[in-house]
Amino acid sequence: MTDSIFSEYPPGLSQAQQEYLVTTIKDWAIQNGLAVRPPPAAIPDGTDLHRVLATNAPVTLFPSPFPAVCFEEAKALQTVYNQLYATITCNEEWLGRVIEDLIDVDDFVANLWKTHLEVKKEGYVQPLSLGLFRSDYMAHVTPGSTPSLKQVEFNTISSSFGGLSALVRTLHAELLMSPPGFPISYPPHHLFESNIPPENNAVETLSGGLAAAHTAYGMSKSTPALPLCVLFVVQDGERNIFDQLALSKHLTQVHKIPVFRLPSNRILNDTLIPSSNSSRPLIYHPPHSPGSAFEVTTVYLRAYYAPDEYKSSKDWTARVHLERSAAIKCPTVLNQLSGCKKIQQVLAEPTGPDHLSSFMSGSDPAVVARLRETFAPQYDLSSDGRGRELALNPETAMKHVLKPQREGGGNNIYKSEIPDFLRSIPEKDWKGWVLMELINPAPNAENVALRNDGEVLRGKVISELGVYGTILWDSTGKALHNDQGGWLLRTKGQEVNEGGVAAGFSSLDSILLY
Ligand code: ADP
Ligand code: MG
Ligand code: MG
Repeated sequence: MTDSIFSEYPPGLSQAQQEYLVTTIKDWAIQNGLAVRPPPAAIPDGTDLHRVLATNAPVTLFPSPFPAVCFEEAKALQTVYNQLYATITCNEEWLGRVIEDLIDVDDFVANLWKTHLEVKKEGYVQPLSLGLFRSDYMAHVTPGSTPSLKQVEFNTISSSFGGLSALVRTLHAELLMSPPGFPISYPPHHLFESNIPPENNAVETLSGGLAAAHTAYGMSKSTPALPLCVLFVVQDGERNIFDQLALSKHLTQVHKIPVFRLPSNRILNDTLIPSSNSSRPLIYHPPHSPGSAFEVTTVYLRAYYAPDEYKSSKDWTARVHLERSAAIKCPTVLNQLSGCKKIQQVLAEPTGPDHLSSFMSGSDPAVVARLRETFAPQYDLSSDGRGRELALNPETAMKHVLKPQREGGGNNIYKSEIPDFLRSIPEKDWKGWVLMELINPAPNAENVALRNDGEVLRGKVISELGVYGTILWDSTGKALHNDQGGWLLRTKGQEVNEGGVAAGFSSLDSILLY
């Protein structure tokens, strides 16, 4: 596809047509649960005391073009990536060597590692681990060649938006399939001819992983036996609740599994591990149903991925409590740590020991090579070398992003700000950050975004693809269930560096393959 075709995308809308489309999408979003709770700042004091308000999730009016070769490659590699991260998680010694280097500069990572050591000392009782992963990419363009798939990051905890993303696909597909002349159809465009966004079965895939773990847990370990359930551990006041409810509804309605939501600050109040039972079942007492008890097969964390969620030592006690229980954790502490940006940088190292090949020994070397092709150059900053050179030189810094060991968006330092930022922190702390070359996602299409405060923005955009995968594995790294399916497209203004939807930088989108 040439730039000229992009320059005509999306088809123009008159002011009246745009307003009509925006109104249609706002209503569709609420009717179908493509929604979020509004940010507190958007609610005048005292007007939503009972938390009844919801608004549309930030969403684009049109699907965005995305290269089919990159989309297919991302899907083809997902189960390979799933297995890679399961294998890394099982190699506690290797993981520990990388993580230990971060401990003196990163309290959060240090506390996660300490949590693992504490449970290890007592002994883990659950050999199975569950991952619900999302591998994020951009289509990287170098002049004169076809776009290639480059990984932005690999998420091992609280990988979100599977639920809402599937809905955006439905919304755009409905608009595309609406016959010409119908009130809500798009104006014609050649990209729309016999083209709708690919199927998006993220909800089925992610729920399928949770259901596989629930089944693999086996019988109740309590005497007398208790009914079994899945527990979603969530943030208090979570705004992205409807995304999570898409998964729990599917688990309940299709897999017939009871699911409870538990804010992380209630873990120590509402769950316990009977001290008399060496199997350490995690028992959940629903506060709304006094006297009833469930045994938790699977703890799904949509919380506890950021340091500010651990408000006191009580939160760390709660994390240890979950980790030492017999419930299957999604993720375990070790699996969460395997998602550190540092691990991704070490895997991508072009010289020194070939960690990637070691972890993938037994795999087809051609597949290892394809995985390696998705890595963008990344550098360690622990000592003088190429990374420091590139980061401290204002010219080369412009082509890079500096990342700490954090999740959830809003944590990175970009381009011209890198040298001054590094000089503002003690040199001994530099090793807590990795330097990554910026991916160049051109050519740029335009799109129009409807933000969750109703604002409508039009401009050149950059899109980031996420592909979902799930894997259940035992302590040897052997997979009992390894599946991929479903995707997320997030689109942001070209000039915006960051990318998260929840962090307010980008909008949910869907894909038109070209
Ligand atoms: P987080 O775990 O906080 O989401 P990311 O590594 O995904 O951290 O970085 C956040 C955002 O920064 C991404 O969504 C993307 O928009 C941008 N970003 C990160 N790395 C790169 C890169 N190498 N090239 C271009 N943009 C990047
Ligand atoms: Mg992340
Ligand atoms: Mg990210």
